[in-house]
Amino acid sequence: MKYSIFSLLRQARDYHKNWPQAWRSPDPKPEYDVIIIGGGGHGLATAYYLAKEHGITNVAVLERGWLGGGNTGRNTTIVRSNYLWDESANLYEKSLQLFEDLSQDLNYNVMFSSRGVINLAHNEHDLKELARRGHACRLNGIDYELVSPEQIKEIAPIINISKSIRYPVLGGAMQRRAGNARHDAVAWGYARRADEYGIDIIQNCEVTGIDVANGKVTGVQTTRGPIKARKIGAVPAGHASVVGQMAGLRLPIESHCLQAMVSEPIKPVLDTVIMSNTVHVYISQSDKGELVLGAGIDGFNSYAQKGGIDIIEHQLEGLCELYPIVKRLRVMRTWGGIVDICPDASPIISKTSVEGFYMNCGWGTGGFKATPGSGWVFAYTIAQERPHDLNEAFDLKRFETGLLIDEHGAAAVAH
Ligand SMILES: Cc1cc2nc3c(=O)[nH]c(=O)nc-3n(C[C@H](O)[C@H](O)[C@H](O)COP(=O)(O)OP(=O)(O)OC[C@H]3O[C@@H](n4cnc5c(N)ncnc54)[C@H](O)[C@@H]3O)c2cc1C
Repeated sequence: MKYSIFSLLRQARDYHKNWPQAWRSPDPKPEYDVIIIGGGGHGLATAYYLAKEHGITNVAVLERGWLGGGNTGRNTTIVRSNYLWDESANLYEKSLQLFEDLSQDLNYNVMFSSRGVINLAHNEHDLKELARRGHACRLNGIDYELVSPEQIKEIAPIINISKSIRYPVLGGAMQRRAGNARHDAVAWGYARRADEYGIDIIQNCEVTGIDVANGKVTGVQTTRGPIKARKIGAVPAGHASVVGQMAGLRLPIESHCLQAMVSEPIKPVLDTVIMSNTVHVYISQSDKGELVLGAGIDGFNSYAQKGGIDIIEHQLEGLCELYPIVKRLRVMRTWGGIVDICPDASPIISKTSVEGFYMNCGWGTGGFKATPGSGWVFAYTIAQERPHDLNEAFDLKRFETGLLIDEHGAAAVAH
């Protein structure tokens, strides 16, 4: 979709009347080559790369609500690639590289901002973990530098580096190429480009069953009727176990609520992202001026997009101690999303025992940063019917072989 200065002026004058739709809202066709379940960023990216990289365009994305209404529109938008193990580092780095050019590729401003992400250390263990991860990152060619409390204070003057607080800042690690992006724009950008390739994006269409005959998928049952498909890629974050079960799969996934909040908007005070796994709080400032504040997961399993007040209390305690200037700020809103977590805190991007049925899930608290990379490798896996080198290790089989990719240190509360 191209705009000239005249069309933009005309649209401004007409007060949004007659604006072209960003994507169509077609009725489902009786049959597709590929159905993608879930219209979050990952599902839409998969559809886009199926068309762009593999020429597969007879595709429908089925979304039970609205595009990006799941975790894509609920996350705190942190993008980074400083993971411990080679497998994760390579995958998240691919994603970060795609993010760097995404606005150009999609012809849509996803507002990617490499403002840097700092992870804080509050004890000896944190310091050692950050140093170990730093060595691993540098071996993988990923930028990562250890920073002293004084350097952190210079970068972010609002932080309290007093040694007398309960969890003093002993140091940190910074990835300067990391940062954040506008989450809705990522979903909308992928949706627009997928639509331009002729892919059907169908909202308010919940998948309620998966049809399997002789060990092979044949289609889906939906709230808008049955639809046939040769292949199905499921990307239903928050409901992966439910959708997996429709195809007879029992996934090693737990679902938890993860909460976040924003403050009222204030003048610019912070131009980087700072995360603390130990204190369970992380902070950045949006372009609107709100402080965007994340927390740890709620401890119990739940499908509610609403969490416990104790998590918020804990988050605010840590926040006020580390960033005392926030004490008199008002919270504008809090929200929650359901995150699916695997036992090793790494995702599943895999073929399954059902022919033609592929799963992409288990991104836990940190899948926004992976959106482009995840879509790219999942499209490859569906099109080529085999994993790409980048996602081979993220196969479901690892839960049988024991070749887990333990990223609890890099993931935890972190994103
Ligand atoms: C509060 C919070 C903060 C976070 N912060 C970060 C962060 O800073 N950085 C980061 O990298 N990650 C973060 N995450 C994690 C990140 O949001 C997710 O990992 C990522 O967005 C998952 O993307 P997705 O496209 O797979 O999921 P979603 O956007 O959730 O998309 C899945 C879609 O599937 C749909 N669906 C489910 N079941 C069905 C069905 N049966 N039929 C049809 N549709 C179905 C859902 O409605 C949903 O829209 C955060 C998450 C939360 C909740």
